[in-house]
Amino acid sequence: MIVVMKTDATAEQIDHVVAHIRELGMTPQVITGKFQTVVAALGQERVGLVELLEPAPGVEKVLPIMAPYKRASSELKGDRTVVRARDLEVGGLRIGMIAGPCSVEGEDQIVELARTLKQLGATGLRGGAFKPRTSPYSFQGHKEEGLKMLAAARAETGLAIVTEVMAPEHVAMVAEYADVLQVGARNMQNYNLLQAVGDAGKPVLLKRGMSATMDEFLLAAEYILDRNNPHVMLCERGIRTFEDHTRFTLPLASVPYLHEKSHLPVVVDPSHGTGKARLVPPMCAAAIACGADGLIVEVHTDPEHAMSDGAQTITPSVFSEMMAHCRRVAEAVGRTL
Ligand code: PEP
Ligand code: MN
Repeated sequence: MIVVMKTDATAEQIDHVVAHIRELGMTPQVITGKFQTVVAALGQERVGLVELLEPAPGVEKVLPIMAPYKRASSELKGDRTVVRARDLEVGGLRIGMIAGPCSVEGEDQIVELARTLKQLGATGLRGGAFKPRTSPYSFQGHKEEGLKMLAAARAETGLAIVTEVMAPEHVAMVAEYADVLQVGARNMQNYNLLQAVGDAGKPVLLKRGMSATMDEFLLAAEYILDRNNPHVMLCERGIRTFEDHTRFTLPLASVPYLHEKSHLPVVVDPSHGTGKARLVPPMCAAAIACGADGLIVEVHTDPEHAMSDGAQTITPSVFSEMMAHCRRVAEAVGRTL
């Protein structure tokens, strides 16, 4: 932690900061510059220290050295985390491909589509049974019936089921059927939900909130890790910007950034990230090129009649072509798909 003093800070104010640092159990070291003095606080950095040191008179700013997200940070865990659920592996050499409809619509639909997707190389099956819809009048999902349909698709194909849980009181039920619990963008800062999925102990796909910064995203992951659940995947799904040619803006720089700051694997969702089906295949290829460990993509046999998110949903035949292209990109960057 570095305390930067104001240029006009008095000797008393510097002494006060030095004493406060000692009182907090750290060792102060004063560095006197020509124009400005900084006080380094050596010792274990803890959450909340900035708030304690910054109000003192004469202090310009306090700069933490360590990331505030201890468990998610690559500072304390050097080796990369690999999350596994059945044949879905995210964080290793093989890129995990999670595909399926936005919403689970019916048993025949999901079982049939799961068969096709498995054949085309998907390792995870997505599909919402609990849907966070912007309007209360939109289809809200088949709920537990939908979870049963997903379980039937898994029994048929062995694909790992990735599905959203929206409320802490539903975690036990969703965990009974799902292999991966998805926390949606709208719930990234629902701290009770994060703790509940942490306690469930199952792999979690944590989506970035549409207005969340990288620090907020990693601190949300920290809530899950702090409940001793290390199986966390970070999912970049696009953020809200001034731009309106796409539904959201998909910032792919977050992939290498998150890899630098954290050991957790990174999944990219180009379906929600763009909102446009024709942009999904090129953005999948781009995500792989910049190091994504997994992709989550919306696929439906008949997007025009999908119960949600049809405009951003690709067909199995587009998915098939996309896989062929993405395999070549993966190979070029030393990965497999
Ligand atoms: C979804 O995956 O269908 C979904 C609702 O995603 P997000 O939370 O990223 O909007
Ligand atoms: Mn969707």
